[in-house]
Amino acid sequence: MSDDLNDLYQEVILDHNRNPRNFRALPDANRRAEGDNPLCGDHFTVFLKLDNDIICDVSFQGAGCAISKASASMMTEHLKGKTVAQARDCFARFQRMLATGQAEEEEAMGSLCALGGVHKFPMRVKCAILSWHAMLAALKGEPVISTEKP
Ligand code: ZN
Repeated sequence: MSDDLNDLYQEVILDHNRNPRNFRALPDANRRAEGDNPLCGDHFTVFLKLDNDIICDVSFQGAGCAISKASASMMTEHLKGKTVAQARDCFARFQRMLATGQAEEEEAMGSLCALGGVHKFPMRVKCAILSWHAMLAALKGEPVISTEKP
C-alpha cells in the first residue's frame, strides 16, 4: 500500500497541491461552474474566459484533497489556449487514463500523466475528475455539478 501511495502522491502532484496554478477567481470569466464531490469533501469553482472558441483563460478556486486540487491546477495549465473541442478531447483522454492507468499520447498529456496512478484508487478517481466535470459543465452553461448525481 505504501508503494502505491508513493506512486499516487508523486512529486508533481505534491507540487501542484502546494503551489496551485491559476488558483484565483477570474473577474472577466464568461463561463463558470461549481463542482462538488461530497464523498471526499472536494468543492471547486472553475472559471473560463472564452473568446469565440478559444479558452483564453481558466482558473479555479475552492478546497479539497491533494489529488483534487493538483488535478484542477494541472487542468488549468493544460487547457489555457485550447479550443473547446480540444478541451473536450483532453477530458476524454484524461477520463480514459483514470479508468485504465494508461496514458494515450503522453507528450500531449504532459503533467496530467502524473495522475495515471489514481486509477488504482476508485474513490480518488472522483477527486481527480471533479474539476474536469466542472469545466465541461461550465462550457455547457450548467452552474453546478456533483460526482454523486441525485
Ligand atoms: Zn478528494
